[in-house]
Amino acid sequence: MLKTIIVSNRLPTKVLRADDSLTFQPSEGGLATGLGSIYRRGDNVWVGWPGLFVNDPAEEQYVTEQLQADSMAPVFLTEAEIRDYYEGFSNSTLWPTFHYFTQFATYEQSHWEAYVAVNEKFCQAVLAQSGPDDTIWIHDYQLLLLPEMLRRTRPEASIGFFLHIPFPSYELIRVLPWAAELLRGVLGADLIGFHTFGYMRHFLSAVSHTLGITAHNGQLEVGQRAVRVDAFPMGIDYERYAQAAASEAAQAHERTYREALRDTRVILSIDRLDYTKGIAQRLRAFELLLERYPEWREQVSLIMLVVPSRDQVAQYAALKEEIDELTGRINSRYRTISWNPIQYFYRSLPLEELASLYRLAEVALVTPMRDGMNLVAKEFIASKADQRGVLILSERAGAARELSDALIINPTDTSRLAEALHDALVMPEDEQRQRMAAMQALVERYNIFSWTKLFLNQLAYTKIKQQTLA
Ligand code: UDP
Repeated sequence: MLKTIIVSNRLPTKVLRADDSLTFQPSEGGLATGLGSIYRRGDNVWVGWPGLFVNDPAEEQYVTEQLQADSMAPVFLTEAEIRDYYEGFSNSTLWPTFHYFTQFATYEQSHWEAYVAVNEKFCQAVLAQSGPDDTIWIHDYQLLLLPEMLRRTRPEASIGFFLHIPFPSYELIRVLPWAAELLRGVLGADLIGFHTFGYMRHFLSAVSHTLGITAHNGQLEVGQRAVRVDAFPMGIDYERYAQAAASEAAQAHERTYREALRDTRVILSIDRLDYTKGIAQRLRAFELLLERYPEWREQVSLIMLVVPSRDQVAQYAALKEEIDELTGRINSRYRTISWNPIQYFYRSLPLEELASLYRLAEVALVTPMRDGMNLVAKEFIASKADQRGVLILSERAGAARELSDALIINPTDTSRLAEALHDALVMPEDEQRQRMAAMQALVERYNIFSWTKLFLNQLAYTKIKQQTLA
């Protein structure tokens, strides 16, 4: 029977070491939910890193068996590999480059070599799981070389690749000493997917400039193979967020927050700690709102949730300090004995509490400098059963291509952002409902399940077309 193999840097289950025992914690991320019904079917399997270092063969075998029982195959990585391939090349070279932060990018030959070696390790793990005609769906920027590596041994396989982050202009790609190798790596796939047409166009332009291959109708000729390139904007599990927001637990949390906030109106900001998210700019815009419109003082609170992430990396630690300082400064400048302008949480919250924040907020402030898609924007929309609430959304988030009923802003324009906050706070209820209803219809329809289906159907179709043309 033909199999489908999902490949990503991390498995949808995280293995944690606590004292002397291991625990297996399923991930609730969007991808795990969307692909859950696929990788558990038949002989299908998900290949990836379990998030734990093992140095004892017995333990390795135990973890492998446990994961195998739930349709997963682990790729074990060493601390040096994680440091150079993951924190190094993936997060310090590719991540900043693809998000237009080249000033933060490092170019280390040793990181590149580790990236090649780990992609090779993933290749061996996938080959061990797959036969010649299987379908292999590879995810994200940590595995750009894998499609081509697999293609060499599996010329007949159906290989799909999806990039979850932006694909930047050729001008940024050309800075990378390894640009040609990376592009050739991705072109091993039969179908290459991006969140937006803009990212797709940048990719085609980079391929044309770097490798001299030009596209015709979203199709590239790579050797004898036709490679299809397309946009598949990723969605969320709409029902899951709608139900979480409607739950008794979320309503109870909301009541507690409301009492504590003494019914001030709430603006919400939720991100992982990352320099791409525009958190500091957002704080300055909120400060400007309070300065320009004194009538909002004591009337509005900003709830800001920052989820700890990559805080071992210098730029992330510096950003954390900047956010701490700005928050402290704004709070000390404007607070009164009974009101604090910013309620700042540096932690991650369980789904019900997250849902209660989405319920509570009248305005969601989603203002990244660059973001592949941004799922927080879509989760906020799914949570608004009464269709009240306003989304302020950066034009540089992938989600802005779909959510045109949000207030779309340039996140660098602090003055305009402060005005957008004011506009959101005075927006008539009718207009809020109209905009929210239109966005809900879209987010409900193009959800994570339809995204998965569309990509896999398109991959199967691409393969059939290749065979009929051969
Ligand atoms: N999130 C979470 N716990 C929290 C806060 C956020 O699990 O305490 C989730 C949030 O629900 C969303 C994801 O983290 O699904 C963030 O995804 P997004 O696309 O917005 O940004 P990314 O972190 O992938 O850059």
